[in-house]
Amino acid sequence: MKTIKRFLEPTPIQYLGKLSGGQKLFIKRDDLLGFCFGGNKCRIGAAFLEDMEKLGADFMVSYGSRSSNLNRVVSALCRSQNIPCRILSSEEKGERDGFNAAMISQMGIERMPCSKEKVADTVSHTLQSLREQGFHPYYIYGNMYGKGNEAAARTAYRKAYREILDWQEQNQISFDAIFLASGTGMTQGGLLAGKWENGGREKIIGISVARDLESGVAGVRRYAGEGREDICFETEYRCGGYGKYDEEIEAGIRQMMEDNGIALDPIYTGKAYTGMLRWLKKQGEGMEHVLFLHTGGLPLYFDYLNSKVKEVRQ
Ligand SMILES: *Cc1c(COP(=O)(O)O)cnc(C)c1O
Repeated sequence: MKTIKRFLEPTPIQYLGKLSGGQKLFIKRDDLLGFCFGGNKCRIGAAFLEDMEKLGADFMVSYGSRSSNLNRVVSALCRSQNIPCRILSSEEKGERDGFNAAMISQMGIERMPCSKEKVADTVSHTLQSLREQGFHPYYIYGNMYGKGNEAAARTAYRKAYREILDWQEQNQISFDAIFLASGTGMTQGGLLAGKWENGGREKIIGISVARDLESGVAGVRRYAGEGREDICFETEYRCGGYGKYDEEIEAGIRQMMEDNGIALDPIYTGKAYTGMLRWLKKQGEGMEHVLFLHTGGLPLYFDYLNSKVKEVRQ
């Protein structure tokens, strides 16, 4: 595990500028984590591998969408550690491989289609057959229903919160809010756990990329563990659901690249960034310092560009 930890140095927090509402905007660059194109899944994937090692398991089973950043990073981590790995990939009809899926294939990792309706069955069969072959498999989300590994996932962003806290102390700046793209809640939940543990005062505001309020909050709560506070999970900026985006999000992506040379993608970071700007316009009065957590997902930026290139060619 030494080789993985080496890539998980604290990531920089950079000043981006002043917003029209007067708030100073900073960005934490988890897109710059130095392993296989970075992103929050580097921290989370490394936490899972550590957990797996602790349990003495020897075969990794991961699950995610066809364009999953988690599956890409977990595949690469397992390759680098010589851990056999199988990817269960939920694939929509007509969907084509993006760069994440292509990288997984390139690494020679086995990818099995798994319909969203049959995840528990597929996981259960996969684990069973691996056990029969003499392996001790590790399913990244815990049991066949995807429960049980919350504590392992939590450690990743609980630690990252500490980095944010240290930076604030060193720079004598305190953030009023931290914004991020929120999906399953592993990242937001971890940050909240860190905040509660350290007595932090900033709001941690998840911009939903897909889930509705009820399932989103339930996810964050599950990963955060015991806590005393309401969870900020904003569902207004979903733009119709997972993977959907509009011109405003596209404009935000373009602007960020032009102003700062930073890539955002339309599924996670671009959606969350634009959502944050709208949130701040509406209710950000009185906030002085805000932090946007860049959760990575760079291959999705290239998928997006690729779709643009194709549009032009057609
Ligand atoms: C997975 C992912 C998220 C969402 O993280 P969760 O922990 O599932 O809420 C956000 N941004 C990017 C780029 C991701 O890959």
